[in-house]
Amino acid sequence: MSERSTPRVLPLIDERQQSIPVPTGPFHHPDRLAAHTALSDTLGRNLRDLRISVTDRCNFRCNYCMPKEVFDKDYPYLPHTALLSFEEITRITRQFARHGVQKIRLTGGEPLLRKNIEGLIEQLATLRTPAGKPLDLTLTTNGSLLARKALALKAAGLQRVTVSLDGLDDAVFRSMNDVDFPVADVLAGIDAAQAAGLGPIKINMVVKRGTNDHEIIPMARHFKGSGIVLRFIEYMDVGATNGWRMDDVMPSAEVITRLQSEFSLVQLEPNSPGETARRWGYADASGAHNPAQGEIGVISSVTQAFCGDCNRARLSTEGQLYLCLFANQGYDLRSLLRGQASDDDLASAIGHIWSGRSDRYSELRAELPSDTRSGGRRVEMSYIGG
Ligand code: SAM
Repeated sequence: MSERSTPRVLPLIDERQQSIPVPTGPFHHPDRLAAHTALSDTLGRNLRDLRISVTDRCNFRCNYCMPKEVFDKDYPYLPHTALLSFEEITRITRQFARHGVQKIRLTGGEPLLRKNIEGLIEQLATLRTPAGKPLDLTLTTNGSLLARKALALKAAGLQRVTVSLDGLDDAVFRSMNDVDFPVADVLAGIDAAQAAGLGPIKINMVVKRGTNDHEIIPMARHFKGSGIVLRFIEYMDVGATNGWRMDDVMPSAEVITRLQSEFSLVQLEPNSPGETARRWGYADASGAHNPAQGEIGVISSVTQAFCGDCNRARLSTEGQLYLCLFANQGYDLRSLLRGQASDDDLASAIGHIWSGRSDRYSELRAELPSDTRSGGRRVEMSYIGG
């Protein structure tokens, strides 16, 4: 089935208007902060990772994320005044860092479209964990502006980038981004990022069965031994506009089997708790991982939902805090930021919200029959940040 003939589920209700009241009142954070212990939710999951969407706009129209038919010139993008300013983002991120957040990922939309994003990176690079360490500062991009911006991003204090790339075949890539953007320009962006020292670089490839699964092996060949980690992502039922169907999902297990037809792979231990990707290394003749050949990862959000150690919170473009990619409501932190709240009030709100967290949407969704999952009323990934 071609990309064009995929049936659409159009959003009828704008979920962005609703938010959950932010809990107020003192939270016992001073002890926690002094002791440098991480904030835990009701299932014992620590808050470690904050993803920040800096814009809901993108210059690509990937069919699985921001299909052209929905995100057209009439789409109600957020007005500039609704967006958190760089100062607001930095102030709230500082409170997250007090609670143990160690990693920040800027995303969107396309984060490099946000004017002077380097200015935000400079501010975030000054933040420290309670133990005095800089935060791990990274960004996910479609790579279209990377060749131009890599050096400035590095100079501003960005440590790493993840680049989304769904294939090497120019025709396939142009059709998937749906704005006729050439693959050579993204590859030039990846080269520029590598030359600027924005590594280790990761590449995200969303695999859609029948659309780009024939690109799995060429992508693996291309990045093997380059120091760049290629990750295959299962096409997810995020948002409500991409007309998701289980038939279009290629399970990670199948991706691995396909790779094993050409490469010898050995499973690797996770780098850190809560890591989204399962790691596989290229093996040498003895069957041991050969680090010079590198590794790949698979992100199995559909077939092997992982909520058990999820340590991620997401801050939307307009300052709503979401506790899950599949949540349809967030907590309005922007009104606190723009009201009279002190830094301690903000830290208390975050403490209350995370410590009350009990969701495990992905696992619960996985228990549903696949044909009942699509078309749900969920927030778009471009808004909440992928
Ligand atoms: N514009 C940036 C980019 O292209 O990387 C950042 C935002 S994008 C929403 C972040 C990541 O989400 C990309 O790697 C994209 O491929 C992935 N993504 C978007 N929709 C997805 C879906 N339905 N299933 C799986 N991954 C998806």
